[in-house]
Amino acid sequence: MARKSKEVWVAPAQNSLPLPAVTGNEYNGLGETSRRRPRQVFWQIDWLRTPGSHPYAPVLKAVVDRFTSVAAYRDVYAGADRGPRKLPDPGPQVEATPERWTERLKAFALNQPGARDSAYPGLGSEAELVGIARIKPEWIYEGCETDHTHLVILGIAMNHERLSRVPSSAEDPEGQLEVCDQYNRGARVANWLAHWIRGQGYRSRAHCGPWVGSLNLLPAALACGMGELGKHGSLINRQFGSSFRLAAVETDMPLLPDEPDIIGADDFCARCQVCTDACPPDAIFSSKQQVRGEFKWFVDFDKCIPYFNETYGCGICIAVCPWSTPGRAPKLAERWLRRAREKAASR
Ligand code: SF4
Ligand code: SF4
Repeated sequence: MARKSKEVWVAPAQNSLPLPAVTGNEYNGLGETSRRRPRQVFWQIDWLRTPGSHPYAPVLKAVVDRFTSVAAYRDVYAGADRGPRKLPDPGPQVEATPERWTERLKAFALNQPGARDSAYPGLGSEAELVGIARIKPEWIYEGCETDHTHLVILGIAMNHERLSRVPSSAEDPEGQLEVCDQYNRGARVANWLAHWIRGQGYRSRAHCGPWVGSLNLLPAALACGMGELGKHGSLINRQFGSSFRLAAVETDMPLLPDEPDIIGADDFCARCQVCTDACPPDAIFSSKQQVRGEFKWFVDFDKCIPYFNETYGCGICIAVCPWSTPGRAPKLAERWLRRAREKAASR
């Protein structure tokens, strides 16, 4: 059946961004046939202090200036509890097996009963998901480095009802405030987890959204079982669909890595176009693209960013994804995995 044509959103002149000659898609490696490390294209807090340091620094500054011109958006970060601002140096190293550290770290991150360390009374380490990946060099952004061995990925669930109020505006900020609130919660968990790791004598560095650090969290999240990559360029998880945010902690603590979790979402996306139809600037490719030597779902950064700016963060594609509807992801995963098994058996 032919797709109904849609009216594609065009940026109003008053919100036009200072886009550089080099495109975001070029930075991201669209059309490149060889593998290479990713490049940072946005969300670098340092660029706000040094706007000449990167072609996309003025774009980031324009987006942040517009965002913080609205009191509700400015206050949601400025007044938030994002955990300890300064982390202590690592203390004397406590010896334990990787199995035991993995168990203790996950219990701490998930705030499971009995997991509280006596040195951390009353802390809310409060992630809904936690996974561990051994760091691969291809996840480290060009120009960055790390001598840590493991990345702990934290999944922070969003309130889908509140998220569904996107796209946001200056007058109705609720949908985007939900995103910001969960970034703040993710920062809180990551910073306290990094603090706890140092208390055990190991090194750590927290990654707190919306800012991006030295590592691309998405492939690490795929590797450690947080879900599959969706057509909308975000993760699809078997419990929360795309209604969650990431935070992370890199460390040299000896830990056991998790496995990827295949839930049938990639197959589902091949037959679904809910997000492509819902995206106002038509930024979501309907087929997989070659990106740095790999075929994968991809979002056109240069089409997305003006609408993202217009709506203080957009988020439509993750809100409308069928997997994000509360309670639906586990049922879809069950159905699509059964379908895949039946297909394999009939071959
Ligand atoms: S809306 Fe449909 S196509 Fe888009 S990510 Fe979700 S399942 Fe995939
Ligand atoms: S965030 Fe908005 S503009 Fe960007 S891809 Fe998703 S729906 Fe489209």
